[in-house]
Amino acid sequence: MSLKAVTYCKQYRRANVHTVGCNFKCKGCPYNSNKESMHQELGIEQVTNALKSLNVKWVHFVGGEPTLCQETLVVSQHSAMKS
Ligand code: SF4
Repeated sequence: MSLKAVTYCKQYRRANVHTVGCNFKCKGCPYNSNKESMHQELGIEQVTNALKSLNVKWVHFVGGEPTLCQETLVVSQHSAMKS
């Protein structure tokens, strides 16, 4: 499991942190673990720096199963400290 991308909706000041990987393998899912190696990973520092540089009000974790990605815990703790 890894962090893949950060997208931002300026209107709602919402950042989406995308993860890759999931223990399920639903047909047609772009996030399933078989395709994990196709994605470039982002480090925790890259993600937290991106969130810092934006005027973020909400952070959503999306993509593969976020709770299986240990980095999401660190990013969510960092995000909570900034609010
Ligand atoms: S991320 Fe959702 S849709 Fe994709 S494989 Fe996992 S459970 Fe299925």
